[in-house]
Amino acid sequence: MAYLESLTNKLKIKRLRTINILYWFLLTYIVAALIFWYIALNKQNDELTFYRLEMIDEKDPAAVQNMSKIAEAKNRKTFQYIGEGTTFFLLIVTGAVFVFRAINRQLRQSQQQRDFMMAITHELKTPIAITKLNLETLQKRTLNVEQQQKLIGMTIQEANRLNALCNNILLTSQIEAGDYKIVKEVIDFSELAGECAQNFIARFTGRKIKTDISEMAFIEGDRLLLQLALNNLLDNAIKYSNKEEIILLKVITKNKLVTAQIIDEGPGISKIEKEKIFEKYYRGDNNQTKGTGLGLYLTKTIIREHNGSIHVINNTPHGSIFEINFAAL
Ligand code: ADP
Repeated sequence: MAYLESLTNKLKIKRLRTINILYWFLLTYIVAALIFWYIALNKQNDELTFYRLEMIDEKDPAAVQNMSKIAEAKNRKTFQYIGEGTTFFLLIVTGAVFVFRAINRQLRQSQQQRDFMMAITHELKTPIAITKLNLETLQKRTLNVEQQQKLIGMTIQEANRLNALCNNILLTSQIEAGDYKIVKEVIDFSELAGECAQNFIARFTGRKIKTDISEMAFIEGDRLLLQLALNNLLDNAIKYSNKEEIILLKVITKNKLVTAQIIDEGPGISKIEKEKIFEKYYRGDNNQTKGTGLGLYLTKTIIREHNGSIHVINNTPHGSIFEINFAAL
């Protein structure tokens, strides 16, 4: 796997280098051609002016006037060339910047897709391998009830992880393709959030998950999608913070808005990353945790489908607060 990864990376770097060399060669050629064009036209202008001046009869009373007319015409031509040259130059630079960004975006996307495929393979294989091992242990060994329960609990955790992963992948593609029919109903968001939190408290018994949910926060939405969005945010809070750090789910209704906050005491998110984390496939730099980079992208898509908003702010002294807002009914 590591060998394949390094081979892919080498190929990518080679392709990137070739595209880069070609790009700069073409750009230099075009700019050099433009400069050459300016010099050649200017030279032609000088020669033409010289011949015109040569043809003037110095005894002619209008000679001085004719000379200044020729000089004026020369200056006009020079300004014309500078004007046209600058316009072309600016057009070329704008085009070059545009192409450069497009190539970079394309390369970044294909790299992200490759990373995603690697991550997904890993994410699918790990729970399957653990589940298989646990079931084989249960089958082959005689374990006491406590040991059995522990293994079953671990297996259920892995099944939950697989389920969440499949939901994220399937719903992302269904929503993007317009195949998912959003069924909106009146939802008590407080109740829904409470259920999600209880689910996490039951699953992650060693974690400090707290709630502060005010009652009766009604919104209109799709229950399954909203559950998925909250689960993704809670899942991240667990993934990106330590065991002893508190995770808080808050829901309040104020000024006709239902606001939910998922607060953690993890490392927080830098200013630059805050702009990127909602992009498809984006994973934090040097991110060693499990993941695919789909969670926040899907969460944002779901919130947008509900005409809501999501943003992230810093928690103090450290950590992140993911805040979502919906119109209250
Ligand atoms: P994944 O968790 O699968 O990598 P997400 O789309 O859920 O993908 O998150 C994108 C990135 O945002 C993560 O890789 C991580 O770097 C960052 N991130 C998300 N939630 C948190 C959080 N609560 N604390 C710190 N970083 C986070």
